[in-house]
Amino acid sequence: MKTTNIAIDGPAGAGKSSIAKEISSELGFIYVDTGALYRTVALFAQENCPDSDNELLERLDEIDIDLSFIGGTQRISLNGEDVTDDIRTPEISMGASRVSAIPEIREFLFDLQQRIAREHDVIMDGRDIGTVVLPDADLKIFLTASADERASRRYLELKEKADCPTFEEIKADIIKRDYNDSHRAVAPLKQADDAVLIDTTDMGFHEVCEEILDLIKERLDIEV
Ligand code: C5P
Repeated sequence: MKTTNIAIDGPAGAGKSSIAKEISSELGFIYVDTGALYRTVALFAQENCPDSDNELLERLDEIDIDLSFIGGTQRISLNGEDVTDDIRTPEISMGASRVSAIPEIREFLFDLQQRIAREHDVIMDGRDIGTVVLPDADLKIFLTASADERASRRYLELKEKADCPTFEEIKADIIKRDYNDSHRAVAPLKQADDAVLIDTTDMGFHEVCEEILDLIKERLDIEV
């Protein structure tokens, strides 16, 4: 049976994951956060071969990544250990941005992403889902917002935590990752020709969800 696939791409901090989570729970779809895959490879590199991309490539067969979906929430494990929370640090964000530019790493994660989409109705978010991973997705959305708005949303999320970076640090990190992601040679961050662009700079969370649900109702033959 053909599954329904919705692709959401966009730069860091555009709200992809919170929006995708909300909509997938509304639809009863699985939400797949593909950034977590690159983050997990970055964690392996940080722990095992922090100084050499060549060594990372030689050791790819030591990386066993498994995704599970508990109550619709994705958990990710690396070689049998749940690393869902460990991959959410600024160092791993930068590490993911670095390893994601390596073509062999993208290829390594490609089959896993396609298999999940073949087997389940999914909302999958990332940078190259509509362009490379699921070029035939039933609906493609490119979600963006200004760098200031994205940094200020991230800052609000993090500010209660210990060691919260400053707003300026968060913004610099976001701008650097956007640059890396959109200038790499393989599968750069870009809007697919057939994706719907939503700029959420001046939109609230519920407004964005409503707009996407309206698109789903218009374009897909499913009950919302
Ligand atoms: O989405 P998130 O910020 O967790 O992604 C971390 C990094 O992984 C991104 O900055 C990007 O470099 C990389 N990534 C990618 N392709 C994807 C998802 C994430 O290159 N589909």
